[in-house]
Amino acid sequence: MTTDLLSAEDLTKTYPLPGGTRHTAAEAVTFTVPRGGALGIVGESGSGKTTVARMLVGLVRPDRGEIHIAGRRREARTPRGKAARLARAREIQMVFQDPYISLDPRLTASQCVRTALRLHGREESRAEALLDQVGLGAREAGARPRELSGGQRQRLAIARSLAVDPQVLVLDEAVAALDVSIQAQILRLLDEIRGETGVALVFVSHDLAVVQHVTDEVLVMRNGRVVEQGPTDGVLSAPQDPYTKLLLASVPGEGWDPSAAARARAALTH
Ligand code: ADP
Ligand code: MG
Repeated sequence: MTTDLLSAEDLTKTYPLPGGTRHTAAEAVTFTVPRGGALGIVGESGSGKTTVARMLVGLVRPDRGEIHIAGRRREARTPRGKAARLARAREIQMVFQDPYISLDPRLTASQCVRTALRLHGREESRAEALLDQVGLGAREAGARPRELSGGQRQRLAIARSLAVDPQVLVLDEAVAALDVSIQAQILRLLDEIRGETGVALVFVSHDLAVVQHVTDEVLVMRNGRVVEQGPTDGVLSAPQDPYTKLLLASVPGEGWDPSAAARARAALTH
């Protein structure tokens, strides 16, 4: 028995390289997230974050490893049959960096959320409350994606995910394209929603500052491997791994020292 909502064990994915060898995009990634918890996955570009996120939602099939949600094994294959597919969608929803691609340009925000509610057999009249929950009012409810700002589109993508009433929300660089002030608004919103609904968040970002604000636990990836994981406060205030130290030294901000960042980079032997 476990109180964990989401568990990933030994998730591994390799891709073929020319010449017959394989590139390891993610190796033996293991973590748990409690109900209502928030996990950050950080690392530089190419470290394997998106591969892990895509394995969680089922867009990438792991070579090895298992995912459990609420004690049930999540199969790598999408099940046949509408009811089973919908039940699977209610386990995990994903929000991408650019919601423009995943939003239907013909639907207004309200129609978009209503469509998701209807598909899952829920009351369409909840659409306005959901839009309100993400800070979109009557004017935005009647607008199509191209008439919304980047931040508003991301709010809409979040509202649509919530319409499904998921147990886990995976966000892959979901605020990366937004201005810092809009980022902060969306992060606050996600924190509120987590408190209100108990949804668990898996927050993928190359930006430590983003993860610092919204997660309880963090997992640091480098070249497909987890180099450090633990409580976010502890890992970010007293990093143990040289790579985590490098990532922290690379964040420009108060007291940032470019030469310290260069030294940390040089200290990494491979
Ligand atoms: P991140 O999200 O941290 O930037 P990714 O998970 O996208 O990292 O990529 C990790 C590694 O796996 C990279 O080296 C990337 O080139 C490789 N990779 C990702 N997807 C594929 C794919 N479909 N085919 C081949 N290689 C891939
Ligand atoms: Mg990525």
